[in-house]
Amino acid sequence: METIYALSSAAGRAGIAVLRLSGPHVRLAIEALTGRAPGRPRLAELRRLRDPDTGMALDRGLVLFFEAPHSFTGEDVAELHVHGGRAVVAAVLAALAKIEGLRAAAPGEFTRRAFEAGKLDLTEVEGLADLIDAETEAQRAQALRQMEGALGNLYEGWRARLMKALAYAEAEIDFPDEEVPGDLIEKLGPEIAALSSEISAHLDDGGRGERLRDGVEVAIVGPPNAGKSSLLNRLARREAAIVSDEAGTTRDVLEVRLDIGGVPVTLADTAGLREAAGAIEREGVRRALARAGASDLRIVVAAPDAGGDFSLAREGDIRVFNKLDLAADVPAGAIGVSALTGAGLEELEAALRERVGTAYEAREHPVITRARHREGLRDCAASLSRAGGALARGLDAELVAEDLRLAARALGRITGRVDVEDLLDVIFRDFCIGK
Ligand code: GDP
Repeated sequence: METIYALSSAAGRAGIAVLRLSGPHVRLAIEALTGRAPGRPRLAELRRLRDPDTGMALDRGLVLFFEAPHSFTGEDVAELHVHGGRAVVAAVLAALAKIEGLRAAAPGEFTRRAFEAGKLDLTEVEGLADLIDAETEAQRAQALRQMEGALGNLYEGWRARLMKALAYAEAEIDFPDEEVPGDLIEKLGPEIAALSSEISAHLDDGGRGERLRDGVEVAIVGPPNAGKSSLLNRLARREAAIVSDEAGTTRDVLEVRLDIGGVPVTLADTAGLREAAGAIEREGVRRALARAGASDLRIVVAAPDAGGDFSLAREGDIRVFNKLDLAADVPAGAIGVSALTGAGLEELEAALRERVGTAYEAREHPVITRARHREGLRDCAASLSRAGGALARGLDAELVAEDLRLAARALGRITGRVDVEDLLDVIFRDFCIGK
Protein backbone atom coordinates (compact mmCIF):
# COMPACT_ATOMS: atom_id res chain seq x y z
CA MET A 1 0.00 0.00 0.00
CA GLU A 2 1.33 3.39 -0.97
CA THR A 3 1.35 6.29 1.39
CA ILE A 4 -0.57 9.27 0.12
CA TYR A 5 -0.30 12.94 0.91
CA ALA A 6 -2.22 16.06 -0.02
CA LEU A 7 -2.94 19.60 0.98
CA SER A 8 -6.19 19.13 2.90
CA SER A 9 -7.01 22.77 3.53
CA ALA A 10 -8.06 25.09 0.73
CA ALA A 11 -5.42 26.15 -1.76
CA GLY A 12 -4.19 29.72 -1.63
CA ARG A 13 -2.68 32.09 0.91
CA ALA A 14 -3.84 31.54 4.49
CA GLY A 15 -2.67 31.68 8.09
CA ILE A 16 -2.31 27.95 8.34
CA ALA A 17 -2.36 25.13 5.83
CA VAL A 18 -2.93 21.49 6.74
CA LEU A 19 -1.21 18.70 4.83
CA ARG A 20 -2.35 15.18 5.48
CA LEU A 21 -0.53 11.89 5.02
CA SER A 22 -1.91 8.36 5.28
CA GLY A 23 -0.32 4.95 4.89
CA PRO A 24 2.46 2.70 6.12
CA HIS A 25 5.31 5.17 5.46
CA VAL A 26 3.94 7.97 7.61
CA ARG A 27 6.41 7.39 10.45
CA LEU A 28 9.32 7.35 8.00
CA ALA A 29 8.03 10.49 6.34
CA ILE A 30 7.86 12.36 9.63
CA GLU A 31 11.35 11.20 10.48
CA ALA A 32 12.63 12.28 7.07
CA LEU A 33 11.05 15.71 7.42
CA THR A 34 11.72 16.45 11.09
CA GLY A 35 14.72 14.28 11.93
CA ARG A 36 12.80 12.29 14.52
CA ALA A 37 10.13 9.61 14.60
CA PRO A 38 6.66 10.80 15.58
CA GLY A 39 6.08 11.27 19.27
CA ARG A 40 2.99 10.24 21.15
CA PRO A 41 -0.07 9.77 18.92
CA ARG A 42 -2.60 12.61 18.95
CA LEU A 43 -0.23 14.97 20.69
CA ALA A 44 0.64 18.10 18.77
CA GLU A 45 4.37 18.74 18.59
CA LEU A 46 6.07 21.84 17.27
CA ARG A 47 8.86 20.80 14.94
CA ARG A 48 11.12 22.26 12.32
CA LEU A 49 10.48 20.80 8.89
CA ARG A 50 13.46 20.27 6.62
CA ASP A 51 14.03 19.15 3.09
CA PRO A 52 14.96 15.46 3.42
CA ASP A 53 17.76 15.75 0.81
CA THR A 54 19.36 19.11 1.46
CA GLY A 55 18.42 19.64 5.12
CA MET A 56 17.24 23.13 4.28
CA ALA A 57 14.70 24.49 6.76
CA LEU A 58 11.26 24.82 5.18
CA ASP A 59 9.02 25.94 8.03
CA ARG A 60 8.17 25.32 11.63
CA GLY A 61 4.84 23.68 12.23
CA LEU A 62 2.71 21.33 14.25
CA VAL A 63 3.04 17.62 13.66
CA LEU A 64 0.09 15.45 14.66
CA PHE A 65 0.38 11.71 14.43
CA PHE A 66 -2.55 9.27 14.53
CA GLU A 67 -1.54 5.67 14.93
CA ALA A 68 -3.38 2.95 12.98
CA PRO A 69 -6.14 1.93 13.39
CA HIS A 70 -7.22 4.97 15.40
CA SER A 71 -7.32 7.42 12.53
CA PHE A 72 -9.65 8.72 9.87
CA THR A 73 -8.46 6.17 7.32
CA GLY A 74 -7.59 3.41 9.74
CA GLU A 75 -3.95 3.68 8.61
CA ASP A 76 -1.13 5.65 10.18
CA VAL A 77 -2.05 9.27 9.52
CA ALA A 78 -0.18 12.51 10.09
CA GLU A 79 -1.25 16.11 9.80
CA LEU A 80 1.29 18.81 9.26
CA HIS A 81 0.01 22.25 10.23
CA VAL A 82 2.34 24.63 8.47
CA HIS A 83 2.16 28.32 7.69
CA GLY A 84 -0.26 28.84 4.84
CA GLY A 85 1.98 30.67 2.43
CA ARG A 86 2.04 29.43 -1.13
CA ALA A 87 5.82 28.93 -1.13
CA VAL A 88 5.72 27.10 2.21
CA VAL A 89 3.06 24.70 1.00
CA ALA A 90 4.83 24.17 -2.30
CA ALA A 91 8.14 23.48 -0.54
CA VAL A 92 6.64 20.98 1.91
CA LEU A 93 4.75 19.21 -0.89
CA ALA A 94 7.96 19.03 -2.92
CA ALA A 95 9.78 17.60 0.10
CA LEU A 96 7.08 14.97 0.60
CA ALA A 97 7.37 13.96 -3.05
CA LYS A 98 11.05 13.11 -2.52
CA ILE A 99 10.31 10.59 0.21
CA GLU A 100 10.34 6.93 -0.78
CA GLY A 101 6.90 5.28 -0.84
CA LEU A 102 4.95 8.52 -0.92
CA ARG A 103 2.78 9.85 -3.69
CA ALA A 104 0.20 12.59 -4.10
CA ALA A 105 -3.33 11.47 -3.21
CA ALA A 106 -6.04 11.16 -5.84
CA PRO A 107 -9.28 13.08 -5.26
CA GLY A 108 -11.29 11.56 -2.43
CA GLU A 109 -8.60 8.99 -1.72
CA PHE A 110 -8.43 9.56 2.04
CA THR A 111 -12.16 9.05 2.35
CA ARG A 112 -11.98 6.07 0.01
CA ARG A 113 -9.46 4.47 2.34
CA ALA A 114 -11.67 5.32 5.33
CA PHE A 115 -14.55 3.53 3.61
CA GLU A 116 -12.42 0.53 2.69
CA ALA A 117 -11.24 0.28 6.28
CA GLY A 118 -14.88 0.27 7.41
CA LYS A 119 -14.54 3.63 9.20
CA LEU A 120 -17.40 5.13 7.21
CA ASP A 121 -20.20 3.56 5.25
CA LEU A 122 -21.28 5.00 1.92
CA THR A 123 -24.03 7.19 3.38
CA GLU A 124 -21.50 8.61 5.84
CA VAL A 125 -19.08 9.25 3.00
CA GLU A 126 -21.86 11.12 1.19
CA GLY A 127 -22.72 13.01 4.37
CA LEU A 128 -19.10 14.10 4.67
CA ALA A 129 -19.11 15.30 1.05
CA ASP A 130 -22.37 17.18 1.66
CA LEU A 131 -21.01 18.74 4.83
CA ILE A 132 -18.06 20.13 2.91
CA ASP A 133 -20.46 21.45 0.24
CA ALA A 134 -23.10 22.76 2.67
CA GLU A 135 -23.90 26.41 2.05
CA THR A 136 -26.73 26.92 4.49
CA GLU A 137 -27.52 26.04 8.07
CA ALA A 138 -30.17 23.43 7.33
CA GLN A 139 -27.89 21.76 4.77
CA ARG A 140 -25.10 21.67 7.31
CA ALA A 141 -27.35 20.10 9.95
CA GLN A 142 -28.66 17.46 7.55
CA ALA A 143 -25.18 16.58 6.26
CA LEU A 144 -23.68 16.35 9.72
CA ARG A 145 -26.37 13.99 10.84
CA GLN A 146 -25.85 11.80 7.82
CA MET A 147 -22.08 11.85 8.27
CA GLU A 148 -22.56 10.71 11.85
CA GLY A 149 -24.46 7.67 10.63
CA ALA A 150 -28.15 8.56 11.02
CA LEU A 151 -29.10 7.16 7.61
CA GLY A 152 -26.55 4.37 7.63
CA ASN A 153 -27.72 3.15 11.03
CA LEU A 154 -31.33 3.20 9.93
CA TYR A 155 -30.55 1.12 6.83
CA GLU A 156 -28.17 -1.20 8.64
CA GLY A 157 -30.84 -1.73 11.29
CA TRP A 158 -33.34 -2.74 8.64
CA ARG A 159 -30.78 -4.92 6.95
CA ALA A 160 -29.96 -6.69 10.19
CA ARG A 161 -33.66 -7.49 10.64
CA LEU A 162 -33.81 -8.72 7.04
CA MET A 163 -30.77 -10.91 7.57
CA LYS A 164 -32.37 -12.40 10.61
CA ALA A 165 -35.60 -13.11 8.72
CA LEU A 166 -33.50 -14.56 5.92
CA ALA A 167 -31.63 -16.76 8.36
CA TYR A 168 -34.92 -18.21 9.54
CA ALA A 169 -36.06 -18.84 5.99
CA GLU A 170 -32.68 -20.35 5.06
CA ALA A 171 -32.76 -22.65 8.04
CA GLU A 172 -36.06 -24.00 6.85
CA ILE A 173 -34.55 -24.84 3.48
CA ASP A 174 -31.11 -26.09 4.40
CA PHE A 175 -31.72 -27.86 7.62
CA PRO A 176 -35.21 -29.29 7.52
CA ASP A 177 -34.25 -32.03 9.94
CA GLU A 178 -32.70 -29.76 12.52
CA GLU A 179 -34.77 -28.60 15.40
CA VAL A 180 -36.04 -25.47 13.77
CA PRO A 181 -39.59 -24.92 14.96
CA GLY A 182 -41.97 -25.23 12.02
CA ASP A 183 -43.85 -22.06 12.84
CA LEU A 184 -40.81 -19.83 12.36
CA ILE A 185 -41.70 -19.09 8.76
CA GLU A 186 -45.10 -17.83 9.87
CA LYS A 187 -43.31 -15.44 12.14
CA LEU A 188 -41.79 -13.81 9.11
CA GLY A 189 -45.13 -12.42 7.91
CA PRO A 190 -45.49 -9.72 10.56
CA GLU A 191 -41.81 -8.81 10.35
CA ILE A 192 -41.95 -8.44 6.57
CA ALA A 193 -45.09 -6.30 6.92
CA ALA A 194 -43.46 -4.15 9.62
CA LEU A 195 -40.32 -3.59 7.57
CA SER A 196 -42.38 -2.79 4.48
CA SER A 197 -44.39 -0.15 6.27
CA GLU A 198 -41.33 1.44 7.88
CA ILE A 199 -39.57 1.62 4.54
CA SER A 200 -42.60 3.06 2.76
CA ALA A 201 -43.00 5.70 5.46
CA HIS A 202 -39.34 6.60 4.98
CA LEU A 203 -39.76 6.75 1.20
CA ASP A 204 -42.85 8.91 1.53
CA ASP A 205 -40.95 12.01 2.64
CA GLY A 206 -41.91 14.33 -0.21
CA GLY A 207 -38.28 14.48 -1.36
CA ARG A 208 -37.40 16.87 1.48
CA GLY A 209 -33.84 15.72 1.98
CA GLU A 210 -32.96 15.78 -1.71
CA ARG A 211 -34.48 19.24 -2.08
CA LEU A 212 -32.55 20.57 0.86
CA ARG A 213 -29.39 19.11 -0.59
CA ASP A 214 -29.99 20.41 -4.12
CA GLY A 215 -31.83 23.60 -3.27
CA VAL A 216 -35.52 24.45 -3.42
CA GLU A 217 -36.77 25.88 -6.71
CA VAL A 218 -39.11 28.82 -6.40
CA ALA A 219 -40.56 30.35 -9.58
CA ILE A 220 -42.00 33.83 -9.90
CA VAL A 221 -44.76 33.89 -12.49
CA GLY A 222 -47.32 36.42 -13.60
CA PRO A 223 -48.33 38.63 -16.51
CA PRO A 224 -45.87 41.00 -18.18
CA ASN A 225 -45.20 44.14 -16.19
CA ALA A 226 -46.65 42.78 -12.97
CA GLY A 227 -43.25 43.51 -11.45
CA LYS A 228 -41.72 40.04 -11.34
CA SER A 229 -38.18 41.16 -12.07
CA SER A 230 -38.45 44.08 -9.68
CA LEU A 231 -39.66 41.71 -6.99
CA LEU A 232 -36.85 39.26 -7.64
CA ASN A 233 -34.32 42.04 -7.35
CA ARG A 234 -35.90 43.27 -4.16
CA LEU A 235 -35.86 39.82 -2.57
CA ALA A 236 -32.31 39.21 -3.71
CA ARG A 237 -31.06 42.49 -2.31
CA ARG A 238 -32.94 42.31 0.95
CA GLU A 239 -31.99 38.77 1.87
CA ALA A 240 -29.05 39.06 4.23
CA ALA A 241 -27.30 35.97 2.90
CA ILE A 242 -27.05 35.46 -0.80
CA VAL A 243 -25.23 32.18 -0.84
CA SER A 244 -23.74 32.54 -4.26
CA ASP A 245 -23.99 35.27 -6.81
CA GLU A 246 -25.19 33.15 -9.66
CA ALA A 247 -27.46 35.95 -10.76
CA GLY A 248 -27.54 36.25 -14.48
CA THR A 249 -29.63 35.26 -17.41
CA THR A 250 -29.84 31.56 -18.03
CA ARG A 251 -31.45 31.64 -21.43
CA ASP A 252 -34.73 33.27 -20.62
CA VAL A 253 -34.86 32.60 -16.91
CA LEU A 254 -33.32 35.00 -14.45
CA GLU A 255 -32.15 33.25 -11.30
CA VAL A 256 -30.78 34.21 -7.94
CA ARG A 257 -29.72 31.91 -5.16
CA LEU A 258 -30.91 32.82 -1.68
CA ASP A 259 -30.64 31.44 1.83
CA ILE A 260 -34.13 31.41 3.24
CA GLY A 261 -34.31 30.25 6.82
CA GLY A 262 -31.27 28.02 6.32
CA VAL A 263 -32.57 26.47 3.13
CA PRO A 264 -30.91 27.18 -0.21
CA VAL A 265 -33.45 28.56 -2.63
CA THR A 266 -33.13 29.22 -6.33
CA LEU A 267 -35.55 32.00 -7.15
CA ALA A 268 -36.32 32.13 -10.85
CA ASP A 269 -38.15 34.75 -12.85
CA THR A 270 -39.52 33.45 -16.12
CA ALA A 271 -38.64 36.83 -17.54
CA GLY A 272 -37.96 35.89 -21.15
CA LEU A 273 -41.52 34.82 -21.58
CA ARG A 274 -42.50 38.45 -21.51
CA GLU A 275 -41.55 38.85 -25.16
CA ALA A 276 -43.25 35.64 -26.17
CA ALA A 277 -46.30 36.88 -24.35
CA GLY A 278 -46.66 40.11 -26.35
CA ALA A 279 -49.39 39.11 -28.74
CA ILE A 280 -51.40 36.66 -26.77
CA GLU A 281 -50.71 37.57 -23.22
CA ARG A 282 -52.57 34.84 -21.50
CA GLU A 283 -50.95 32.16 -23.59
CA GLY A 284 -47.56 33.53 -22.57
CA VAL A 285 -48.47 33.40 -18.93
CA ARG A 286 -49.91 29.93 -19.31
CA ARG A 287 -46.62 28.78 -20.79
CA ALA A 288 -44.68 30.44 -18.01
CA LEU A 289 -46.82 28.65 -15.47
CA ALA A 290 -46.27 25.34 -17.23
CA ARG A 291 -42.55 25.93 -17.13
CA ALA A 292 -42.77 26.77 -13.48
CA GLY A 293 -44.66 23.53 -12.96
CA ALA A 294 -41.40 21.76 -12.23
CA SER A 295 -40.55 24.15 -9.41
CA ASP A 296 -41.21 23.33 -5.78
CA LEU A 297 -43.09 26.52 -5.06
CA ARG A 298 -44.56 29.30 -7.17
CA ILE A 299 -45.03 32.95 -6.43
CA VAL A 300 -47.82 34.25 -8.65
CA VAL A 301 -47.68 37.99 -9.12
CA ALA A 302 -50.53 40.26 -10.17
CA ALA A 303 -50.67 44.06 -10.25
CA PRO A 304 -53.48 46.57 -10.70
CA ASP A 305 -52.10 47.71 -14.06
CA ALA A 306 -51.19 44.24 -15.33
CA GLY A 307 -54.24 42.13 -14.82
CA GLY A 308 -55.15 42.31 -11.19
CA ASP A 309 -56.47 38.80 -10.76
CA PHE A 310 -55.10 35.43 -9.81
CA SER A 311 -57.13 33.30 -12.19
CA LEU A 312 -54.01 31.33 -13.11
CA ALA A 313 -52.92 30.69 -9.55
CA ARG A 314 -53.32 27.22 -8.12
CA GLU A 315 -53.77 25.89 -4.65
CA GLY A 316 -50.44 26.10 -2.85
CA ASP A 317 -49.09 29.09 -4.76
CA ILE A 318 -48.04 32.21 -2.89
CA ARG A 319 -50.16 35.04 -4.32
CA VAL A 320 -48.55 38.45 -4.43
CA PHE A 321 -50.39 41.60 -5.36
CA ASN A 322 -47.68 44.04 -6.44
CA LYS A 323 -47.71 47.82 -6.90
CA LEU A 324 -49.57 48.37 -3.68
CA ASP A 325 -48.53 52.01 -4.08
CA LEU A 326 -50.93 52.25 -7.02
CA ALA A 327 -53.95 50.59 -5.42
CA ALA A 328 -55.45 50.35 -1.98
CA ASP A 329 -57.30 47.07 -2.17
CA VAL A 330 -55.49 43.76 -1.98
CA PRO A 331 -57.44 40.74 -3.27
CA ALA A 332 -58.34 38.24 -0.57
CA GLY A 333 -55.67 35.60 0.04
CA ALA A 334 -52.91 37.68 -1.52
CA ILE A 335 -49.98 39.45 0.06
CA GLY A 336 -49.90 43.10 -0.91
CA VAL A 337 -46.42 44.41 -1.73
CA SER A 338 -44.72 47.20 -3.56
CA ALA A 339 -41.45 46.31 -5.23
CA LEU A 340 -41.01 50.04 -5.70
CA THR A 341 -41.33 51.18 -2.07
CA GLY A 342 -40.54 47.91 -0.35
CA ALA A 343 -43.89 47.80 1.42
CA GLY A 344 -45.11 44.31 2.33
CA LEU A 345 -41.77 42.69 1.52
CA GLU A 346 -41.37 41.50 5.08
CA GLU A 347 -44.69 39.72 4.95
CA LEU A 348 -43.71 38.05 1.69
CA GLU A 349 -40.38 36.97 3.13
CA ALA A 350 -42.11 35.58 6.20
CA ALA A 351 -44.44 33.60 3.95
CA LEU A 352 -41.45 32.27 2.01
CA ARG A 353 -39.63 31.34 5.16
CA GLU A 354 -42.69 29.59 6.46
CA ARG A 355 -43.19 27.61 3.26
CA VAL A 356 -39.57 26.88 2.47
CA GLY A 357 -37.77 27.09 5.78
CA THR A 358 -40.10 24.85 7.72
CA ALA A 359 -40.91 22.46 4.90
CA TYR A 360 -37.37 21.56 3.98
CA GLU A 361 -35.25 22.18 7.05
CA ALA A 362 -33.63 19.20 8.73
CA ARG A 363 -36.04 17.12 10.78
CA GLU A 364 -35.71 14.79 13.68
CA HIS A 365 -35.80 11.66 11.52
CA PRO A 366 -33.06 11.17 8.99
CA VAL A 367 -34.28 11.68 5.45
CA ILE A 368 -33.27 10.36 2.06
CA THR A 369 -30.82 12.79 0.51
CA ARG A 370 -29.98 11.18 -2.83
CA ALA A 371 -31.71 9.42 -5.68
CA ARG A 372 -29.29 6.54 -5.07
CA HIS A 373 -30.85 5.91 -1.65
CA ARG A 374 -34.33 6.15 -3.07
CA GLU A 375 -33.56 3.60 -5.79
CA GLY A 376 -32.09 1.17 -3.29
CA LEU A 377 -35.05 1.56 -0.96
CA ARG A 378 -37.53 1.06 -3.78
CA ASP A 379 -35.72 -2.12 -4.84
CA CYS A 380 -35.77 -3.27 -1.26
CA ALA A 381 -39.47 -2.52 -0.86
CA ALA A 382 -40.30 -4.33 -4.11
CA SER A 383 -38.38 -7.43 -3.05
CA LEU A 384 -39.99 -7.33 0.38
CA SER A 385 -43.40 -7.14 -1.15
CA ARG A 386 -42.60 -10.17 -3.34
CA ALA A 387 -41.33 -12.03 -0.29
CA GLY A 388 -44.54 -11.20 1.55
CA GLY A 389 -46.57 -12.40 -1.42
CA ALA A 390 -44.65 -15.68 -1.68
CA LEU A 391 -45.12 -16.22 2.02
CA ALA A 392 -48.83 -15.54 1.81
CA ARG A 393 -49.26 -17.85 -1.16
CA GLY A 394 -47.96 -20.93 0.55
CA LEU A 395 -44.78 -20.67 2.51
CA ASP A 396 -42.33 -21.41 -0.22
CA ALA A 397 -39.25 -20.84 1.87
CA GLU A 398 -36.91 -20.89 -1.09
CA LEU A 399 -38.71 -18.09 -2.90
CA VAL A 400 -39.18 -16.08 0.26
CA ALA A 401 -35.51 -16.43 1.06
CA GLU A 402 -34.46 -15.31 -2.40
CA ASP A 403 -36.53 -12.14 -2.18
CA LEU A 404 -35.36 -11.41 1.34
CA ARG A 405 -31.82 -11.81 0.10
CA LEU A 406 -32.45 -9.33 -2.71
CA ALA A 407 -34.09 -6.90 -0.28
CA ALA A 408 -31.12 -7.09 2.08
CA ARG A 409 -28.72 -6.65 -0.80
CA ALA A 410 -30.56 -3.53 -1.96
CA LEU A 411 -30.04 -1.98 1.46
CA GLY A 412 -26.48 -3.22 1.60
CA ARG A 413 -25.74 -1.44 -1.62
CA ILE A 414 -26.90 1.85 -0.12
CA THR A 415 -24.48 1.60 2.77
CA GLY A 416 -21.85 -0.23 0.72
CA ARG A 417 -21.69 -3.08 3.20
CA VAL A 418 -22.83 -6.15 1.38
CA ASP A 419 -21.15 -9.32 2.43
CA VAL A 420 -22.33 -12.89 2.76
CA GLU A 421 -20.44 -13.47 6.00
CA ASP A 422 -23.26 -11.68 7.80
CA LEU A 423 -25.69 -14.40 6.90
CA LEU A 424 -23.47 -17.15 8.26
CA ASP A 425 -22.94 -15.21 11.46
CA VAL A 426 -26.65 -14.78 12.04
CA ILE A 427 -27.44 -18.41 11.34
CA PHE A 428 -24.65 -19.52 13.59
CA ARG A 429 -25.68 -17.28 16.44
CA ASP A 430 -29.39 -17.97 16.28
CA PHE A 431 -29.41 -21.66 15.69
CA CYS A 432 -26.12 -22.85 17.09
CA ILE A 433 -25.71 -25.29 14.22
CA GLY A 434 -22.70 -27.53 14.47
CA LYS A 435 -22.28 -26.98 18.10
P1 GDP B 1 -42.14 42.04 -15.03
O1 GDP B 1 -42.42 42.19 -16.46
O2 GDP B 1 -43.27 41.34 -14.33
O3 GDP B 1 -40.83 41.44 -14.72
O4 GDP B 1 -42.17 43.51 -14.41
P2 GDP B 1 -40.97 44.49 -14.09
O5 GDP B 1 -40.34 44.14 -12.83
O6 GDP B 1 -40.11 44.64 -15.29
O7 GDP B 1 -41.80 45.81 -13.85
C1 GDP B 1 -42.65 46.36 -14.85
C2 GDP B 1 -42.82 47.83 -14.57
O8 GDP B 1 -43.53 48.02 -13.36
C3 GDP B 1 -41.51 48.58 -14.44
O9 GDP B 1 -41.63 49.81 -15.06
C4 GDP B 1 -41.36 48.73 -12.94
O10 GDP B 1 -40.62 49.86 -12.58
C5 GDP B 1 -42.78 48.85 -12.48
N1 GDP B 1 -42.99 48.40 -11.12
C6 GDP B 1 -42.58 47.23 -10.57
N2 GDP B 1 -43.00 47.14 -9.30
C7 GDP B 1 -43.68 48.27 -9.01
C8 GDP B 1 -44.35 48.77 -7.86
O11 GDP B 1 -44.42 48.14 -6.80
N3 GDP B 1 -44.99 49.97 -7.99
C9 GDP B 1 -44.95 50.68 -9.13
N4 GDP B 1 -45.57 51.84 -9.15
N5 GDP B 1 -44.31 50.26 -10.23
C10 GDP B 1 -43.68 49.07 -10.18
